Amino acid sequence: MPCTAEDGIVPRVLPEVVDWLMQPEPEGRELPNIEDLLTRPEWQRRAACRGMGTDQFFPSTGAHVRQSTIALCGSCPVHAECETYAVANQDIGGVWAGTTERDRRAIRKGRPPAIAS
Ligand code: SF4
Repeated sequence: MPCTAEDGIVPRVLPEVVDWLMQPEPEGRELPNIEDLLTRPEWQRRAACRGMGTDQFFPSTGAHVRQSTIALCGSCPVHAECETYAVANQDIGGVWAGTTERDRRAIRKGRPPAIAS
C-alpha cells in the first residue's frame, strides 16, 4: 500500500526546501543552511526581497547601502516584522528593514538609526 502525506507517514516538505532544491546553485554562492530554511519565520514568505539576490543586503565593508534597497524595505509589507526580528537577533548581519548592523545597535541602545528606513 503506498504511503501519502495524508496518511501522516510521508513528511510534508516545505515549499522553501523544494524551491531551493530545484534551483541551480550559482558559482561561488554558499548553500543555505537547511536548519535556517526549516525554521524561517512565516512572514518572510511575504517579503518584498523574497527571491532576490543577497548582494544588495550584504554590501562589502565600507560600501553604502543602496538607496534602492532602502526604498524596497520602506515599501515592504513585512517591514515591521523584519525590523523587530533583526533588532532582536544580535548575531545576524547585513541590511534588514533598511537598517545596517550599526543602525540596529543604535536602536537597541534607544538611539535613532543613521539610515531612515
Ligand atoms: S524589510 Fe527589506 S530586508 Fe526586510 S523583508 Fe522587507 S525587503 Fe526584505
